[in-house]
Amino acid sequence: MLTGPGADAQVHEVPDTSTLLLRSEEARTRGDYREGRRLAEEAVALATDARDDRSLAEALRLVCNQALRLGDLEDSARAGSDAVLVAERLGDRPGQVDALNLLSFAYLNLALFEEALEAIERSIERVAAVADPELRSGTFNRAGTIRSAMGDFDEAADLFDRAAAELGSGDVSSETRFCLLTNTADLVLQMAYAGQDVPAGELRRGVELAREALTLAEEAGNPYRQALSLLNAGSLSTYLDDLDVAHPTLRASMELSRTHGYRSLELGVLDAFAMDAFRRKDFAEALDRFGEVVRLAEELTDATVLVRAHQLSSRCHEELGRFREALDSYRCFHELETRQRTQTAQVRARLLGQTFEIQRLRSQAVALGRQAHEDPLTGLDNRRSFDATLPDLLAGLGERDWVCVCLLDVDHFKRVNDTFGHAVGDRVLRRLAEVMREEVRRRDVLARIGGEEFALVCVLPAPERVDHLADGLQQRLDRLRRTVSQTSWADIAPDLRVTLSIGGVLTRSTDAPPAEDLLRQADRLLYAAKDAGRDRVLTRSLSVP
Ligand code: GH3
Ligand code: MG
Ligand code: MG
Repeated sequence: MLTGPGADAQVHEVPDTSTLLLRSEEARTRGDYREGRRLAEEAVALATDARDDRSLAEALRLVCNQALRLGDLEDSARAGSDAVLVAERLGDRPGQVDALNLLSFAYLNLALFEEALEAIERSIERVAAVADPELRSGTFNRAGTIRSAMGDFDEAADLFDRAAAELGSGDVSSETRFCLLTNTADLVLQMAYAGQDVPAGELRRGVELAREALTLAEEAGNPYRQALSLLNAGSLSTYLDDLDVAHPTLRASMELSRTHGYRSLELGVLDAFAMDAFRRKDFAEALDRFGEVVRLAEELTDATVLVRAHQLSSRCHEELGRFREALDSYRCFHELETRQRTQTAQVRARLLGQTFEIQRLRSQAVALGRQAHEDPLTGLDNRRSFDATLPDLLAGLGERDWVCVCLLDVDHFKRVNDTFGHAVGDRVLRRLAEVMREEVRRRDVLARIGGEEFALVCVLPAPERVDHLADGLQQRLDRLRRTVSQTSWADIAPDLRVTLSIGGVLTRSTDAPPAEDLLRQADRLLYAAKDAGRDRVLTRSLSVP
């Protein structure tokens, strides 16, 4: 065999979905959101192709979370609402809560406050039935953050208390402790930003909490959380006029954010510097700083920050006696405020439209997937599905299991068609499928494998006495046969009678021949039943008790 340099490099490793998810989560934990998001998007594609909803939901949550940190807010919201849909389809409550929590933050950052509140309230409703204290706490935590951003500080404080209470004294992850500390610090900061007179003691307490959070972030080696803690500590310190600490702290946050692409944190730092200069009445510097804020806020479409930057710029010009500029800035602010409302409506419409489209495509995919294995007339599994299922089912049997394979064929069905027409024949087949489905157990496989021919496979656990098993099977099939022959078809066609002939083989899993042998033997018994006069059941055990 020929080998050469680079031969190894040509072996491309194609990671599977679970590996991608694992690596994305690892990247997220170390704050590498660009890589984490890329991996999660690959996982979304693979899981969609494989129709693996569990992995899909997880991958979408990872995209939502990490796109948000990178400042791609609409992408984040799209992934989030898709994650909610998939989790709902799965009936996965913790998954729904997690996705709604993430989605609520995407909406919050898009200044879609109503949507953010609606999402977090749906999450609180659902989390009532979830036992995981961290998830419960996280939900109240996010609700608090949303309230705080909306200026409902008392409500926010209550929710943060609730979040802490949910955790009780149990062990909690470093990430959860980080969130609690950070949100409480952030609440103090939001109150200061809103122009409230926050006592110095509370500001100092906020700085302490942010520093504690920083220590946790450093221990966890997560630069995003470090940058966020530094931003909080630095911003709060500016309100304490502690600039020797505040400015280097903010600069450290800026450096981390720029290195790792945390654009919204970068905006936060610029905003903190601008607000600080404004508060210190250094209006010339504040104007420069707000100029930087405007540029980045425009790029990130962060309307809330943008509007405030224009408003305060106008005030700066005014203070500097530059009234024409002040008026220009004021116009900008005013226009923006009006436009923000329209823009909010546009973003809202865009997201809703996309969510609807995703939903439509997904249900189409589900329907197509179903078509491949479902018989359209009766809704039972079709021949193709049955042929694929039976060998798998046989291979998966336990050592003590028994299995029976039966074929069921409608007697003289040609006469039904000839007498009443093909449409009546179809209705009979549909009703027959319903009747049979009622009679079999949920775990049994029932398929329509030919025109008027059905297959039934049941797995039976080993009984005390095996002869009872054969008797029991004969009785079950006989009951099914009788139910069909006694069914009234009067509403479909007067004087119609429908009967079945059934052939069934029973075998211990350890003796089971291949699927096609089982079917051939069942077919022989079916024809013996026909020969013996129809409307009857013939069974045989291939294994000796
Ligand atoms: P036997 O008791 O020997 O099984 O007699 P049979 O008439 O049921 O058997 P045969 O195989 O001669 O005819 C089966 C008939 O089933 C022929 C065909 O017209 C009818 N059939 C097959 N598929 C469908 C269907 O989808 N709809 C309707 N209405 N009839 C169908
Ligand atoms: Mg027939
Ligand atoms: Mg037939």
